[in-house]
Amino acid sequence: MSPSNAMNIERFQRRKTHRVRIGSIEIGGDCPIAVQSMTNTPTADTAASVAQIERIADAGAPIVRLTAQGRKEGENFAEIVPRLRRDGYATAIVADIHFVPEIAMIAADYVDKVRINPGNYRTDNGRLEELIAKCRQRGVALRIGVNHGSLARHIVDKWGDTPQGMVASAMEFLRICAKEHFDQAVVSMKSSNTRVMVHAYRLLVEAMEAEGMDYPVHLGVTEAGNGIEGRIKSAVGIGALLADGIGDTVRVSLTEAPENEVPVAQSLVAYFTERKGCFRVNHPERYSPFEYRRRTNAAYVVHDEITADYDVVTAVSENPTAEWRAAILNADTLRPTVIRRRYDDADFTTLVVKAAADMGSLLLDGLADGVCIDAPQHSPELLREAELMILQAARVRMSHTEYIACPSCGRTLYDIETTLAQIKARTSHLKGLKIGVMGCIVNGPGEMADADYGYVGSSAGHITLYRGREVVARNIPQEQALERLTELIKADGRWQE
Ligand code: SF4
Repeated sequence: MSPSNAMNIERFQRRKTHRVRIGSIEIGGDCPIAVQSMTNTPTADTAASVAQIERIADAGAPIVRLTAQGRKEGENFAEIVPRLRRDGYATAIVADIHFVPEIAMIAADYVDKVRINPGNYRTDNGRLEELIAKCRQRGVALRIGVNHGSLARHIVDKWGDTPQGMVASAMEFLRICAKEHFDQAVVSMKSSNTRVMVHAYRLLVEAMEAEGMDYPVHLGVTEAGNGIEGRIKSAVGIGALLADGIGDTVRVSLTEAPENEVPVAQSLVAYFTERKGCFRVNHPERYSPFEYRRRTNAAYVVHDEITADYDVVTAVSENPTAEWRAAILNADTLRPTVIRRRYDDADFTTLVVKAAADMGSLLLDGLADGVCIDAPQHSPELLREAELMILQAARVRMSHTEYIACPSCGRTLYDIETTLAQIKARTSHLKGLKIGVMGCIVNGPGEMADADYGYVGSSAGHITLYRGREVVARNIPQEQALERLTELIKADGRWQE
């Protein structure tokens, strides 16, 4: 959807992209939006990795990514891929490369797609052109996977760690793909901050359109955490973009078994694929949905806090995001507005994922000042909690500790799922804190972005603790780490009993 269309009509219409083949599947164009996930087994462990890929594939994901941090892992795709095919799985396999261009070249001999991170992959030494040539020769796709937390030094120096910097980073690599006439590239702009992530993807689409590029887009919120909170955070970010018509493949990242990610991503995709409705906006000059604005200075509220000062706008159509947007933009007043909708899903998780996906965009764009989920079959307490989580996921009202937890991968050095549960049990009552829980020291510190404290795996059985970006305890035994984290928060005067 181009900005000019958005000025007059709000409707669901997928952005036009070209097709990219990833092994047995194509994405982009008019192909269905594909769901994908990533293993968290060591990639050098063939049996464990193959078994996990097959579980993810059985859950319904046709694309699975594995980390390849070194030569051993890159070369092991020669074992993993044939084993999968012998087992009857046509699953498209993606190698995730962060630092070492040689590993991308090795992996490209065996896999269907290679993901590189422009933050730690140079463009001035011909390595990218070499990789493109290899991909072209074998019919391998390439993902330019920008992460907010690991932008290149020259980008940060010029742009800071901003959405604009993320776009500059992606465009630098996409221009090389275009120069090489290589169209089998996909691009992503991930962040754990939904505001940054949505803004970056929207700006990227504008930048690509300005240069006549129609590369498909991979959507994801990084380090979303687990449980209902992780699902809501993913739904807010991914839903806002799917509502714009942006997105050709989706990964929901959860700090859980990877196969749990698949049904969440599938339900989001299905929800938007069925989207209909066309809503005319009469006063387009007042706001642009491509910019963050705050219409009012009212407090962000949930359903039992709505007063007579708030207008309540109820959506009844199958496209509530566009319906609310049109109603708010067409209103003659600037009164604070609560968006309300009835959801009849019996399953609470399905219900809140839909509500978060519908409402997130209005909160991120500064058009709504409150949310109200009307679902008489669920308790008011549960609904209030979900509404607070939606406001927090959109970063407009922080009511509980936020966990920026990585989904884990083959680099993870400890049982992150159990550890996250322990950290949550100890700290979830703290208000206004962000705690990063990351699997590895290589990417973890950068990717936990603006966390107040960080708990990062630094070697087997050992943890490094951070206050912001500063290391405060290096490589301590994991048995002591939670206690030390608690003491640190207390010493900073940020602990509440
Ligand atoms: S931070 Fe987590 S998901 Fe990212 S590379 Fe490290 S272990 Fe893997």
